[in-house]
Amino acid sequence: MTAASSPDQVSGQPGVGPAAADLTPGRPIVFRNATMLTMDDAHHVLHGADLLITGDRIAAVGPGLQVPEGTAEIDATGGILMPGMIDTHRHMWQTAMRGYGADWTLTQYFVWNYLQWGKSFRPQDIYAGDLLSAIEAIDAGVTTSVDWSHNLQTIDHAEAAADALQEVPGRFVLGYGNIQAAPWEWSATPEFRDFVSRRFSGGNDMLGFQMAFDVPPASPDFPEKAAFEVARDLGVPVTTHAGVWKVTTDDGIRLMHEHGFMTPSTIYVHAASLSPDSYHRIAATGGHASLSTESEQSAGQGYPPTWKLRQHGIGVSLSMDTSVWWSADLFSAMRATLSADRAREHLEAHGNDETVTHHKLRAEQVVDWATRGGARALGMDSLTGSLEPGKKADVVLIKNDASPVMFPLLHPYGHVVFQAGRGDVHTVVVNGQVVKYDHQLVGVDLGRARQVVGQTVDYLKGELGPEAWNEGMHPEIPETRVLDNPYTYTYTEDQGPAS
Ligand SMILES: [Zn+2]
Repeated sequence: MTAASSPDQVSGQPGVGPAAADLTPGRPIVFRNATMLTMDDAHHVLHGADLLITGDRIAAVGPGLQVPEGTAEIDATGGILMPGMIDTHRHMWQTAMRGYGADWTLTQYFVWNYLQWGKSFRPQDIYAGDLLSAIEAIDAGVTTSVDWSHNLQTIDHAEAAADALQEVPGRFVLGYGNIQAAPWEWSATPEFRDFVSRRFSGGNDMLGFQMAFDVPPASPDFPEKAAFEVARDLGVPVTTHAGVWKVTTDDGIRLMHEHGFMTPSTIYVHAASLSPDSYHRIAATGGHASLSTESEQSAGQGYPPTWKLRQHGIGVSLSMDTSVWWSADLFSAMRATLSADRAREHLEAHGNDETVTHHKLRAEQVVDWATRGGARALGMDSLTGSLEPGKKADVVLIKNDASPVMFPLLHPYGHVVFQAGRGDVHTVVVNGQVVKYDHQLVGVDLGRARQVVGQTVDYLKGELGPEAWNEGMHPEIPETRVLDNPYTYTYTEDQGPAS
């Protein structure tokens, strides 16, 4: 072991870090002189600290680390080093329609995807959306994403999704679903079983598996039971949209609970608009929520429920839901979640003629939810979610020397949540491999993603025709009646303002 002296040791360029080409897979990497949010159990924040990666793991954390000869050094001075972020629910196939539904409600989303056009997506369209979404995730420092893939109409669609996720050097979990058929139908086929055993039997922590389906208000004979039994038989978690206003309700939670299908590995997406009884059932069985605050605010599943989850002791993870509205940007998720929680507290206090003088939810907590919370929800807490020796090296460096927003760096958690953004993501490491460096993606073919997404957009435009395409993007705006105003304002040159 030698103490590498300075960043220029590797590149030979004084004062400059290594070139991207020098960051070859397998070469040890050390980040030097970071402000580090370890997100370990005690939430240690280190200053002037180093982090050494050897192989796919974090080898050491601390000041002035001795490193192996030939280690590539990345100068993290002025930056924040944090664990890779984890998104526990994203419909990645929809990224091919990025931004199209910016003005949708949930009802319009359902009509477009479930009733009208979702069926039009071919395997290559699923592939295109997933590919772009996966690249977008690692670019934003989201090192693990759950692909809530609920348009896998055939096994070919599923193969396409898995292919895309395996082509991009991020950590992914395929949540297998199909909105075009009932879960007790698609999960019962031999082709489904065959797909799972072929592609997910190796204990690969870069590509996990879940079953993704919902339990809408009851049919009292609970036909979803058969799908839960398949999940139990395969030993895979279930992720389900729960507490979505008028879509999935307390009934579904009660049925799942009464039949013994609520487990610590179950993820409840949104978990808004549920009764206290449902939250108690989730808490008692150790499940986790996946909050998509921007989605809940805009689409209308229910008010982002952090204040209720806090009261019931339910673990929280964060997610972005879909790039039809939003992006893969967990900075946005953290910011929106913190703001929504505080807005609610203020609103409730004002309703009681009171003033909130101390916030319950802190920036530190939402950074935990964006990292550790996701790892816990996915049962991956021993692998990822914090910067600790022995864990897989999923690491994000937030650093932007050209930005006036990166200093002073006084409150690192607050800086991550309210100051930094995805444009400040300097370096991303997944499983020990550098996938972004100096603000540029490494080893990713964005041109190919652009090409296949372009083909999908052209195809879908053709399927819809210009009129439906435009109508889908621009739903009607309900009328707003401007209130009668008892005051008038007139201005005259002689007399000045008068009312
Ligand atoms: Zn969703």
